[in-house]
Amino acid sequence: MIFYKTEEEIVLIRESCLLVCKTLAHVASLIRPGVTGLQLDKEAETFIRDHRANPGFKGYRGFPASLCISPNEAVVHGIPSKAEFRDGDVVSVDCGVYWNGYFGDSAYTFALGDVKEDVITLLRVTNTSLYLGIEQAIPGNRLGDIGYAIQEYVERRHHYGVVRELVGHGIGKNLHEEPEVPNYGKRGRGVKLQEGLVIAIEPMVNMGKKEVTHAEDGWTVIARDRKVAAHYEHTITVRKEGADILSDHSGIEEEVRKNKELKPVDVLNPAL
Ligand code: MG
Ligand code: MG
Repeated sequence: MIFYKTEEEIVLIRESCLLVCKTLAHVASLIRPGVTGLQLDKEAETFIRDHRANPGFKGYRGFPASLCISPNEAVVHGIPSKAEFRDGDVVSVDCGVYWNGYFGDSAYTFALGDVKEDVITLLRVTNTSLYLGIEQAIPGNRLGDIGYAIQEYVERRHHYGVVRELVGHGIGKNLHEEPEVPNYGKRGRGVKLQEGLVIAIEPMVNMGKKEVTHAEDGWTVIARDRKVAAHYEHTITVRKEGADILSDHSGIEEEVRKNKELKPVDVLNPAL
């Protein structure tokens, strides 16, 4: 069952999403070669609790941390570890918070140091595909229109692989609610989008083939061909006027530009 949200609920979900993005901006100011995922996780948890909120992921189905940190061939759900990041790594950081009864969820992939240009292109295309999906989140469209826009751009235009096994989701009082929001699909198919729908859209894109597998830790999802993957996520709501993005990556992008050990990941003009 889909829980459509009231305006009051959307205000609270936006607050949670903005705290997620502030946490990710803090991560953006710290992440660099030599830093570990465990260090970032500790920083993020303290930051969230200092804002009188709770980490949304910690303890969720037994997940042990506040951040999912997924470097290189790891797609999502990576457990923060004591391994130091290296120059040339790309690191997906996914964060959730629970505050005042509602969850927020957002993710960003960072490029550390001397990342190869073809990998930067993967990140740019994935980030751009997120906004192409969001553009489709208007009343009267269907879920399939979102997935189609992402898949069309990522697979047919750029020949990367859209991960099938993991999808976006409704969000609110629960971290994962109905409906599922696939990053692939057919135009005009699936649930009709209407005002009050709140969903997380989160394309997961493999540079190589779309197939994934689980690492030995039972959590981390990795590209089966071990090629690099990217992941960006916004929580949005559907309004009469179009999609309203409740999370906000602008503070993250500002920190990325200030951090000289990161490469910015610009959104592309999809028409070019
Ligand atoms: Mg997330
Ligand atoms: Mg999510």
